[in-house]
Amino acid sequence: MKDVWVIGAGQLGRMMQYAGTPLGINVHPVNVDDPTLPAPELPAHGVITAERELWPQTPTGQALQAHGNFKNNTVFGRTADRKTQKELIDALGVATAKWLNVEASTSAEQCYRELGDTVLLKRRSGGYDGRGQLWLKQADGDALPDEWKQTSIAEEKCPFDEEVSLVGARTQSGELVFYPLTRNLHVNGILMASISPLQRLDHLQPQAEQMLGAILNKLEYVGVMAMECFRIGDKLIVNELAPRVHNSGHWTQAGASISQFEMHLRAITELPLPQPLIRNTSVMINLIGVDYDEAWLDFADTQLHWYNKEVRPGRKVGHININDGSIEKLLVSLDNLQSHLSENYGEVLDWVREELR
Ligand code: ATP
Ligand code: MG
Ligand code: MG
Repeated sequence: MKDVWVIGAGQLGRMMQYAGTPLGINVHPVNVDDPTLPAPELPAHGVITAERELWPQTPTGQALQAHGNFKNNTVFGRTADRKTQKELIDALGVATAKWLNVEASTSAEQCYRELGDTVLLKRRSGGYDGRGQLWLKQADGDALPDEWKQTSIAEEKCPFDEEVSLVGARTQSGELVFYPLTRNLHVNGILMASISPLQRLDHLQPQAEQMLGAILNKLEYVGVMAMECFRIGDKLIVNELAPRVHNSGHWTQAGASISQFEMHLRAITELPLPQPLIRNTSVMINLIGVDYDEAWLDFADTQLHWYNKEVRPGRKVGHININDGSIEKLLVSLDNLQSHLSENYGEVLDWVREELR
């Protein structure tokens, strides 16, 4: 019997848990935020992983990270800080948006001079869903607020054509496995929908695999990592890395013979990891701040994942994967689904339709 403990008890650990069950892997997500929880008893054979990049030094968090089988334990510190993450990407010669570290003495003028007339400040750590970001525009005379100094990096504005991501894994013995590139739609910094695979992205696959492969190998990483990219013409540049299973890989639950959650578990517990088979094209729609609707279950080709979290505006509370035998059938399902989603999903579904045509 294999046992895996997960730093974090959110939806990613939960989905890892149910991917592990059929393989006989017991997955134990652990709440590392509550300082009153006692450190769990961890057997020596246990494997420790994380569903997030950053966690507080609670008794539970400390116990898990101190375990001898905590995979990639030196990676999290490096990728959780955007400065060291960017340094790693630069050192490998992998393309990424131009950036600078915001020091105490850094001014907006310096940012404009080095990065262009519109720059994006990103908090070095803790940001997600576009939180912890601030645009500065030279034309508006924006200055660099003091509270962003020494806590953020500044990035050039990327004039990207579209956003894509690559999810892949490295095994203990150094083999690499990748899913096809995923096309992502972000609205106000939040991922709203993903599509994969798309034939028109096929020619970028080798480039993407080469980039993420170099990063995985350099880190001697084991398990699943996601690389978010901007496509500018025929060139990909890395936006950011996530050393874990990733929202843009959720479609693999419906569209691949091995989901990203299973792939991660196989890699970290040293089980065989063949290249997953991909079934047709999948669409993933994130459920953001919406109430549960049983009508979503009316359609045989849609798969609901509800995270059982309290519904709050802007909060990811679930996702829907759609996978069917043809694009035509997918399009029919999107129409069916639309009548059971709030009006603001109209734009998202239109985007998906446009991409599929
Ligand atoms: P996530 O939830 O994916 O972890 P995050 O809060 O860490 O998001 P980023 O992925 O860095 O933030 O940025 C969020 C979104 O903001 C990107 O998906 C993209 O749409 C936009 N964005 C980020 N950096 C740039 C940039 N340099 N130029 C233009 N747009 C950008
Ligand atoms: Mg991020
Ligand atoms: Mg991102």
